[in-house]
Amino acid sequence: MGLIVQKFGGSSVADAEGLKRVASRIVATKKAGHQVAVVVSAMGDTTDELLDLAEQVTPMPNGRELDMLLTAGERISMALLAMAIGNLGHEARSFTGSQAGVLTTSTHGKARIIDVKPGRIVEALNDGAIAIVAGFQGINQDTNDVTTLGRGGSDTTAVALAAALEADVCEIYTDVDGVYTADPRIVPSARKLDSITYEEMLELAASGAKVLHLRCVEYARRFDLPIHVRSSFSNNEGTWVVKDHPGGASGDNMEQAIIAGVAHDKTEAKITIVGVPDRTGVAARIFQTIADADINIDMIVQNVSAAATGLTDISFTLPKSDGAEATRILKDIQGEIGFHSIQYDDQIGKLSLVGAGMRSHPGVTATFFACLADAGLNIEMISTSEIRISVIVREGDLEKGVKAAHTAFDLDVDDEAVVHGGTGR
Ligand code: ADP
Ligand code: ASP
Ligand code: MG
Repeated sequence: MGLIVQKFGGSSVADAEGLKRVASRIVATKKAGHQVAVVVSAMGDTTDELLDLAEQVTPMPNGRELDMLLTAGERISMALLAMAIGNLGHEARSFTGSQAGVLTTSTHGKARIIDVKPGRIVEALNDGAIAIVAGFQGINQDTNDVTTLGRGGSDTTAVALAAALEADVCEIYTDVDGVYTADPRIVPSARKLDSITYEEMLELAASGAKVLHLRCVEYARRFDLPIHVRSSFSNNEGTWVVKDHPGGASGDNMEQAIIAGVAHDKTEAKITIVGVPDRTGVAARIFQTIADADINIDMIVQNVSAAATGLTDISFTLPKSDGAEATRILKDIQGEIGFHSIQYDDQIGKLSLVGAGMRSHPGVTATFFACLADAGLNIEMISTSEIRISVIVREGDLEKGVKAAHTAFDLDVDDEAVVHGGTGR
């Protein structure tokens, strides 16, 4: 007998039928002799619909109230799921994030989990019940307010709970059969990976492959907790996210490919600060101001300053959702720093190539850039890590770029990937 944490995403519980299907699946695991704790997301596109509603009443919703609103989505599905399991003759108890002991920082909309104190979950499991936890939410102990973990955050709830319960595995059930070499909604010829390392999955998640929330992978790596990403619509074996590929570095399998996958991200925008005085401390002042507002930046490019003017341009990318705030706070320090203007561009897309094999294979960058050139794409910014190359292109060119890179690195397979549900929103 083991302890299994299962997480079901929104598309798996999109309607009453979905909830019933998921309930049977959970009961089957329980009947197989395991203790089961479940994390559930809001039904279908509920979170997006709630966000749309908030925008209709105000262009700038208050963070605390927005979190109050959004956490309601997961609360609906957890209660319905517990009822559906009850209807199958098994006891299930639902818990909000706060009741489940998910303690977070206080930043609304992107709180981080500090600790999980799952006393009530353990009690429920010891009583032989199935515990259902609302994903994506927690509570801050200083403010006593509910928080949310950022879009896709239920994955992180699941892994954090699994770590706190010392579960044997965390199963993430979604609307595709596992982690693919590219988003199967864009590249139907993408190949399902049998396994992927934490290291590669971290880079893919950070580069926009939303199949797993970035922080859930960080958590899993820290606790060396295996994640099994699979579909709730089929019984197929999915993708194991683990420390090393089975067989290790000497293993003679396809997983040793140079490239693990191609990721894309349409959620970033670019800010260019034009005519910045090229003086010591100016960049520090600019980025400290952004950091103080709790805004994460991604790529940065600073041009060489023109000798005649002593002025330079600094561009950086950040989440679109932070664009208005960043522009506002930069305007506040415009007089002090003395730059000319701010340009905001939200029509960009980020395209990334990820693979541990890059370390030992020269020429990956050359092949990548050549395939983008052949596809007629202009590269606007570049950033790299040891196992990743990312470029910024026009948003409208992004999908073309993903397909071109996927083909250039021989990742296409003949079988078409199945997307079981969801709207891709
Ligand atoms: P859930 O609601 O179950 O959390 P998400 O929509 O958050 O599901 O994540 C699953 C989606 O992630 C898939 O439907 C797919 O479109 C997208 N995706 C992006 N990149 C990948 C990838 N490399 N492999 C699999 N799915 C991916
Ligand atoms: N319901 C939240 C979202 O749509 C959290 C999640 O599904 O993981 O982002
Ligand atoms: Mg998700």
